Amino acid sequence: MKKKIILGTALILILGATGSFVYYDYYHAPRRTLTFLPKKAIKVAIQPFKGIDKGSVLEVKKGIERYYGLKVIILPDIPLPIHAKNTHILKKYHLQLPVRYRADSLIAYLRKTKSSKYDYVIGLTHQDISVTKPKKPKWLYTDWGIFGLGYRPGPTCIVSTHRLYRYANLAQMRTRLRKIAIHELGHNLNLRHCPHRNCVMQSARESMKTIDNEPESLCDSCKNIIKRKFIVNFPEEQMGKL
Ligand SMILES: [Zn+2]
Ligand SMILES: [Zn+2]
Repeated sequence: MKKKIILGTALILILGATGSFVYYDYYHAPRRTLTFLPKKAIKVAIQPFKGIDKGSVLEVKKGIERYYGLKVIILPDIPLPIHAKNTHILKKYHLQLPVRYRADSLIAYLRKTKSSKYDYVIGLTHQDISVTKPKKPKWLYTDWGIFGLGYRPGPTCIVSTHRLYRYANLAQMRTRLRKIAIHELGHNLNLRHCPHRNCVMQSARESMKTIDNEPESLCDSCKNIIKRKFIVNFPEEQMGKL
């Protein structure tokens, strides 16, 4: 009897946990809006780096699939490349900063190791990532922590969850994560930073507030840039109905 009760409680807890996850996910993820992309012709993969939680990986997969209307494959986890650590930068400039991974080295690594099976690879890490900004003061901007980085245009980008938990519950954190992934893939698809407030391609301007205030979608002019790119590059039969 006791066993049955324990089993029953465990089952309710498990169902409750997965139920709320599924419910939450369907509730918050945007509907697919870019119906014009050639779904079968563009292959996207997520490359998780060791240590990233599965929930975040699934969130990015669903966010990209729903927003861009593309199929996303999840690759097996790989370790972060040691050469991408910021150690040499800290040494060179005598900086006392925490360990971060250089975002430009990570997207170069992803490009170098990318299988030709995929057109775009989104790297995902829980570690802090950084770039050097041509700004002063040097001690602050030589190893500046960022949310994500992507080639424009190009085949790879990287997104870090490290800074997304600040002042956020799980749902808010994951909304930020989807927006950043949509933004970085946007760069890969040749989108620049956009001045429109109703667009996910705005520059974060070094603030999480920008990301929290922007919508999880592209403005019409950014959509048109992507549309033009694929109308030129793909024959009509691959485009489906425009
Ligand atoms: Zn950007
Ligand atoms: Zn825009």
